[in-house]
Amino acid sequence: MLREVFYPTLINSNMVSMSINGKLEKFWITELTRPAFEDWLEHEVHPVVIIGIGSIEQHGPHLPLGMDSLAVKDIIHMVASRSNSVCVHPSWSGYSPHHMGFKGTITFSWETLMGVMMDTIGSLAYHGVKRFIIVNGHGGNTQIMNLVVQQAKREYDVMVYVPTGPVGTDLAKKQTDRSKRYWDVHSGTNETGAALGLFPELVEMWRVPEDWKPSNNINPDVKAYLDPDREDYEMVNQLFRASSQPDTDDFTSDGIYGMNSPHDANPDEFKARLEERVEFMAEFIRKWKEIPTPPAFQ
Ligand SMILES: [Zn+2]
Repeated sequence: MLREVFYPTLINSNMVSMSINGKLEKFWITELTRPAFEDWLEHEVHPVVIIGIGSIEQHGPHLPLGMDSLAVKDIIHMVASRSNSVCVHPSWSGYSPHHMGFKGTITFSWETLMGVMMDTIGSLAYHGVKRFIIVNGHGGNTQIMNLVVQQAKREYDVMVYVPTGPVGTDLAKKQTDRSKRYWDVHSGTNETGAALGLFPELVEMWRVPEDWKPSNNINPDVKAYLDPDREDYEMVNQLFRASSQPDTDDFTSDGIYGMNSPHDANPDEFKARLEERVEFMAEFIRKWKEIPTPPAFQ
């Protein structure tokens, strides 16, 4: 009798079900209940967890400090929802010592970032997850992430991979060419397009003068190496990188790398490229789940 009195009340206010026979309705691990997570783990033959890492660092005068983490959060959630995966964004900060010359940057040491990632993978491996993909929104994290991929496999007997692509599409080529030609790698046209495409309410375009000119203080002869049409590009592009100064404030006063203006940003182009990337990663996961787990990881 007691049950009949109390139970219907509970049911009426708790009709949410986050995982039905392993099919997720919510994808952030932080939003799933324990039984929903267990239901997913139990029913997915090869459950995949997507780990996103980014940064809190200066992004010029106009983009939010959390740019890389905000973007990667959006991306991994999209991929997770298309592949019935669980996603986790274990830390807002990444490895950004090179941006510390500008206020607002919070950098982890490499050991901290590596620890956060290893502990995230190790915890989920303990619960039986065998497959992880990592999506990185910040170039400074790349080497640490690659080391985590190697170490986690050895330490936890899990599969860890960083899918990249598609690189051959027109949009990919366009953005890559822009990066090479204008050194558009941080807070410039490409990244401003991403911010305007994903969270325009967090962008202060008015802080970038209409007639913006690059503030970067780079030897003009070395700057001339940024020309993918040169015959000696393979050599000079490496000379450019070998000669680049370690910290952002060594070569730019406004925190924007590159020679092309943030005002050239095209959010629609970004959204089309995002769709390619997200679909590529989702398809990667769907196909990966068809492959049995190799003996070494069992
Ligand atoms: Zn960034």
